[in-house]
Amino acid sequence: DGGWLATHEDVTERRRAEERITHLAHYDALTDLPNRALFHEEIRRELPHVAPDSQLAVLYIDIDEFKGVNDSLGHMVGDELLKSVARTLSGVIGDGDFVARLGGDEFAIVQTGVKSEAEVTDLVARIYEVIRAPYQCLGHQVTTDASIGIALAPKDGTDLDQIMKNADLAMYAAKSAGRRVFRFFEPAMDADARARRELEMELRQTIAAESGLEVHYQPCVDLRSNEITGCEALVRWRHPQRGMISPAEFVPIAEETGLINQLGEWVLMTACKEAVNWPDQVRLAVNVSPVQFRSGTLALKVIAALASSGLSASRLELEITEAVLIRDDETALAALHQLRAIGIRIALDDFGTGYSSLSYLKRFPFDKIKIDRCFVTDIADPQGSAGIVEAVVNIAAERSMTTTAEGVETAQQQQLLRELGCSEMQGYLFSPPKPAAQIRELLAGHRRGPAAGASTTRRRKPVAGAA
Ligand code: C2E
Ligand code: CA
Ligand code: CA
Repeated sequence: DGGWLATHEDVTERRRAEERITHLAHYDALTDLPNRALFHEEIRRELPHVAPDSQLAVLYIDIDEFKGVNDSLGHMVGDELLKSVARTLSGVIGDGDFVARLGGDEFAIVQTGVKSEAEVTDLVARIYEVIRAPYQCLGHQVTTDASIGIALAPKDGTDLDQIMKNADLAMYAAKSAGRRVFRFFEPAMDADARARRELEMELRQTIAAESGLEVHYQPCVDLRSNEITGCEALVRWRHPQRGMISPAEFVPIAEETGLINQLGEWVLMTACKEAVNWPDQVRLAVNVSPVQFRSGTLALKVIAALASSGLSASRLELEITEAVLIRDDETALAALHQLRAIGIRIALDDFGTGYSSLSYLKRFPFDKIKIDRCFVTDIADPQGSAGIVEAVVNIAAERSMTTTAEGVETAQQQQLLRELGCSEMQGYLFSPPKPAAQIRELLAGHRRGPAAGASTTRRRKPVAGAA
């Protein structure tokens, strides 16, 4: 009534909220580093300015064994580690460079104005220096490492998708090379990745169809009595176009994709069913991948295979590598003890090829150590591995374990191993891995008298003494 009504709104609050939302959309909540979206934006902005003397490098950094830290020490420690890594990475980059967290344990750096690859490797050296230094996380000292893949613009591509894809391929190559290393992108990596994907698809179909896969068996012989004590199951893939593909080629792919769980179960079932046909004293050894241990259902699957085949637990031996025990993996250790409790034997495979192997002997009471082929190959050389083999045999004896030498190819190697006190041997000298039917025949002939070589199986006459 003659007066007026004024409205006013305080926009500060709203603006603050909007800013907060924009920030959340572009920054990672845990580390406060730019996220993938902002990282892409940054690369898109820089790409038009690249030139041969002012290149852009994209470095993908994957923290090795982060999952191990998370699993064994808990998420809180894992989170602290990621925050510390984020801080240290921010400290090593130059002006105009950019760090982001792409998610999980993946970080990335954009390096700009790069004149030579040396500038990139300098940055990589700085990254490794800080990443490898121990971190203090909630009272735990954590050490870690990284795999790094690098792509350069314009050399490896000029659009965002291509650069990102190539950096990813380079990182994958670094991981395949055993982690803890860096790789620059090379065009061949693209072809490799495609071939792998194809092989993976075919393997998936082959496993599902349960045809094309076979199990071969290689005998293991007692070095004193010359008797066959067991056979190791080794999977084979008969590819319609490529012929036999080595497990050394497809087992790693199966492990990476999780297909090893199905594959391993099939091998176990098939081999147990076969082994019930063998003489009672002949054991069956089956390789088990660390991935199968992580699934948590391994013991149940082993029990199921024994039950459905009727093979007694005491005739089954599982071969594991130290990779199963590499982390403080309580799941794996528990599974091993369960299996052991029902009478299954556990062998440590490829002994001596990993690192700090001796400590694993303390973590689990193995029944057998398999001495890797690389120590057998040069056992007869003056500077060879005879001393190492002897030491392993002594350690094994002290802990009531037996030893099997792998890859024995000559009579001289056999003789030396016998002299060094090794219990058993396996290798082409006695027999290569063979299809089930041939092994049955071999075992049937062998029962009538131990032979010095598989080629002599049809001979009835037993070979005298330890010769
Ligand atoms: P491994 O367990 O160390 O098996 C021994 C490998 O050495 C086999 O290769 C065997 O054929 C080969 N070998 C045996 N005697 C000799 C010899 O005198 N000289 C030479 N040069 N080689 C010999 P293969 O069958 O190609 O298997 C390679 C690897 O693949 C195995 O190494 C094992 O780690 C893996 N693998 C095979 N089958 C399976 C499976 O069913 N499950 C899992 N998880 N891994 C498997
Ligand atoms: Ca093995
Ligand atoms: Ca082996």
